Amino acid sequence: MWNCVNRKRNRADIDRVTEIDVWDLTGSVYEALFTHGVDGVLITSMDGRALGANKRACELLGCSEAELIGLGRDGVVDRRDPRWGEALQIRARGGAFRGVLRMRRGDGSTFPAEVTTAMFDDGVRARAYLTFRDMTEAEAEAARSAETRRAAAEVIDSLESFSYMYVGVDGDWRVTYINAQAELRLGISRDTVVGEDLWEAFPALLGTGFEATYRRVMSTGEAGTVEAHYSAADLWCEARVYPLRRGGIGIYFRDIAGRRAAEQERERLHAAERAARAAAERAQHDLRHRATHDELTGLLNRAGLVQKVEAVLAGRPAAGLTVAFIDLDRFKLVNDSLGHAVGDRLLEVFARRLAAAAGPADLVARFGGDEFVVVLVGVSAESAGRLAAEVIAASREPVDIGARLLVTASVGLAAGAGPADLGRLLREADAALYRAKDAGRERAAWFDQRMHAESLRRVRTEQDLRLALDRDELVVEYQPAFDLRFERISHVEALVRWRHPVRGLLPPLEFIPVAEETGLIHRLGGQVLSRAIEQAGRWAHIPDLRVWVNTSPQQLADPELPRSIGALLASAGLPAERLGIEVTESVLADTAHLAGALERVRALGVAVAIDDFGTGYSSLARLSASPVDVIKIDRSFVADLGTTRGQAVLASIVTLAHAIGAHVIAEGVETLEQLTALSGLGVDSASGYLLARPSAAEDLPVALEGDRSLRGPARMHSSVARVPRALGTS
Ligand code: C2E
Ligand code: MG
Ligand code: MG
Repeated sequence: MWNCVNRKRNRADIDRVTEIDVWDLTGSVYEALFTHGVDGVLITSMDGRALGANKRACELLGCSEAELIGLGRDGVVDRRDPRWGEALQIRARGGAFRGVLRMRRGDGSTFPAEVTTAMFDDGVRARAYLTFRDMTEAEAEAARSAETRRAAAEVIDSLESFSYMYVGVDGDWRVTYINAQAELRLGISRDTVVGEDLWEAFPALLGTGFEATYRRVMSTGEAGTVEAHYSAADLWCEARVYPLRRGGIGIYFRDIAGRRAAEQERERLHAAERAARAAAERAQHDLRHRATHDELTGLLNRAGLVQKVEAVLAGRPAAGLTVAFIDLDRFKLVNDSLGHAVGDRLLEVFARRLAAAAGPADLVARFGGDEFVVVLVGVSAESAGRLAAEVIAASREPVDIGARLLVTASVGLAAGAGPADLGRLLREADAALYRAKDAGRERAAWFDQRMHAESLRRVRTEQDLRLALDRDELVVEYQPAFDLRFERISHVEALVRWRHPVRGLLPPLEFIPVAEETGLIHRLGGQVLSRAIEQAGRWAHIPDLRVWVNTSPQQLADPELPRSIGALLASAGLPAERLGIEVTESVLADTAHLAGALERVRALGVAVAIDDFGTGYSSLARLSASPVDVIKIDRSFVADLGTTRGQAVLASIVTLAHAIGAHVIAEGVETLEQLTALSGLGVDSASGYLLARPSAAEDLPVALEGDRSLRGPARMHSSVARVPRALGTS
């Protein structure tokens, strides 16, 4: 309490301030100012000792007035503050100082204070007064605002150096700030937009995702992100929008064209990858499908059938299997005569019919060529037989593929007793199929044990035939034919036989089909040709005697055939007109291929005969265009001569053959009636058991003396053949 001036000082006080006259303030106004001033006031001596203090000064300094007076020189200031000395100097020079100094509290702590100090004369001596105001709060505030300014500057700095574009907007949509990046990329200057309404400054934002998001953030106070196209600058932008504390929003946005392009590229790559994966899966599925299915008909193939049967048996191990082996009759003929394309179409049609005839649980497969297999699971022999009958009936339906084809099918059936063994059943059904074919085709046959032996024999035949070719077990017999007009032997036909070491002499039908199936026919045919040509060489002295050799279509398909025939003729020194080759009718049909080979053979001077004429598919047009010298009428027509119809057919064949300039030879003449009829019909030559059986060259009836001996053993008709004497001397 600043009442010290009015107070009687005690002795001790007065002792301490002996040199100092107690300053006395007179006048109530000053006293009031002093006492109640909001600033601290100290009265000091010129050398800085406190002489008095007001109430506020005591509060600020945390001391009583007496304590302050007792502090001595400069006791209320922080003497470390360099400005204190400066203040004293200034005061000494000019009498007054004003500035901020650090003052010291009674407890030793310091605080900033705005200090005004000046001198005055109280009428007795010079004094100083010091008013001070606590600046702790002000200083802190100043520091705070400096910090705020620094932070703001930093924010602006970073906004400016940012790669993001930035636009700040206040709560009234006025643009408050736009950074340099935004100026640059949007092509505007901040001077023209700051203070403007956002939507007026940037009208292209209206109606876009940007507008919607900005408005949402402004109204909800929740940050948002938007990706959209800003048409005015043709920019794809991603904008992040934040509510500002003082109201309004801050919009950071950046060009994402690069990212979008990368994303699109990534998406494109993903799509390409997906497509590639799908294609690979398809290809794999395709491969799997192809591995188990027949390409032409879409039916299962052998591998697919085996898999399916295994799968079925896995679920029903006790189920009995029945296998139907189906083969089209004379399909080879269609294929050879009308070409593979027609053959394939026929197979497709038949496959469809077969699949339709089979039940949904039956497994239908094509094993290649015209071989089809149906596996029936757990059915009775009757229903299997019914299916076979249906298949045969379905095969009889004509097939219209350009031409109208009539084919039939044969079926071999085998049923399993005991544990299912598909391999064995297939072999057995195959053997049964052969039986069905042998029995006249267009029928079904069940496997029995006799067939088992037969099928084994076929397998063995192939093995043995390979050996036979190495060991020279094939022999060639010759069957003569007689010229009906000149009554003499006109030619001989070479017929192969196999002298089998165990089975004896085998006829060609026992092994030629196997040779054709296995490709051994080329070696076999080569051996027959060379033997026949050698033999013909031995008969070279007999005038006009020609040797006919049977050739399979496969042999004719070999482009080397004409050359090797030429070579054989040359090495035997045989003129080409002494040789003829017999081909089946089917060869004619393949004009492009086999008929070309015929031409080349004929060009050598070798004659060509169509064997078994009438049993195949040759059109008259094709026959007339083909290089044919002789037509050999199949013995089935000769056998039919007893009927008027048979005679009429034969007569027309003769007329046709003569019309194209070909000779006609009738085969299989067994009776005199037949021979007489043939002679009457104008057939040129005839052969058959009636006249002479095939035999070894040295045993030929022509090897015996004179016409007596010829007619004698063969018991021939007197109208037939007088053998030239020379033929007998081989
Ligand atoms: P093909 O060429 O039509 O031969 C005539 C067949 O009829 C011969 O049977 C012959 O022995 C037989 N034959 C002759 N006269 C009569 C008769 O009055 N009555 C009866 N029932 N048959 C008679 P073979 O020797 O068994 O030959 C059968 C077929 O084997 C031949 O029929 C021919 O197509 C084929 N063949 C024979 N040798 C060869 C050959 O070296 N190569 C080829 N690729 N096939 C051959
Ligand atoms: Mg023949
Ligand atoms: Mg024949």
